[in-house]
Amino acid sequence: MGPPLHTKGLRSVLPIVLALICNPALGATGFVYDDAYLLHATGADHPESPQRLKAIVAHLQETGLLDRLTRLTPTPAPADSLTTIHGAKYVAEVARGCDEGRACLDAGDTTICKDSYRIALLAVGGAYAAVDAVMDGRVRNAFCAIRPPGHHALKDQAMGFCVFNNVALAARYAQQKHDVGKVLIVDWDVHHGNGTQAAFYDDPTVLYFSVHRSPFYPGSGAETETGSGAGVGYTVNIPLPAGSSDAQYLDAFERVLKPKALEFRPDLILISAGFDAHERDPLGGMKVTTECYGRLTRIVETIAEECCDGRLVSVLEGGYDLTALADSVETHLRVLLGDE
Ligand SMILES: [Zn+2]
Repeated sequence: MGPPLHTKGLRSVLPIVLALICNPALGATGFVYDDAYLLHATGADHPESPQRLKAIVAHLQETGLLDRLTRLTPTPAPADSLTTIHGAKYVAEVARGCDEGRACLDAGDTTICKDSYRIALLAVGGAYAAVDAVMDGRVRNAFCAIRPPGHHALKDQAMGFCVFNNVALAARYAQQKHDVGKVLIVDWDVHHGNGTQAAFYDDPTVLYFSVHRSPFYPGSGAETETGSGAGVGYTVNIPLPAGSSDAQYLDAFERVLKPKALEFRPDLILISAGFDAHERDPLGGMKVTTECYGRLTRIVETIAEECCDGRLVSVLEGGYDLTALADSVETHLRVLLGDE
């Protein structure tokens, strides 16, 4: 004779109740931010300003979203952890440049201040903290409101406001620290992520997908750039003409990214989340709406749900209209939180 009926009912519900009690993070979204990120001073009228993060945080406070996010505290990445992507000499050069009070690095478009080295390490550490939280199951997904951005940073060169390549470093960190096999990087910043592409060009364990304006800064990202050696087929570039809007972005994600990603089956997804393709952005020259960022997020989230239990870490890159940036981050986070 089996247990009474009411016990049977309880038994079927119990695992779900227990799972929720034991792991309240099942639906949680992590949020990496620290006031120290404001200390990376780029100079008056520089588009990549501390105001960007101030606008995001103020807006998330006003909308009540901040209270619903799980705050993740970043610590500076150890300098020697950067050599998975960058040359040790370059890392030391950045440290020295900041110490000596230099105004900019390399090509001159990456301005720095005395604190920039320290804050750039904290930005990388922020991406690491998000990877840790997602991989440990403390949160389901996470967004990093960090600066300086990273996707243009090359092995031995700062470029395009980027000092260290936060997303590329996070991918390697996930592979080395958490034994993650395959990482998908989705880069929807309006500029091509030349640094990230270069880091994994011959690597079949990291699929790099970028939609960007072309021709445009930094000049790379042609459709014919598909990888080299064992990495052929693991770099996917979708260059779009100036003035492109939601339809082209959604088409690229549905028609190209989705099948490619589902075939690749990543164990973790990273987003290089730049919001400078927004119709209001002063630099991007594209016509993407705030709402579209929600739809792009949903597509990536669907891939994450299907391939890797929803494990997704999104890292801020560009986005220079403060209102558009704050609104787009809100829309992005609402999808990550499961509201939409
Ligand atoms: Zn950009």
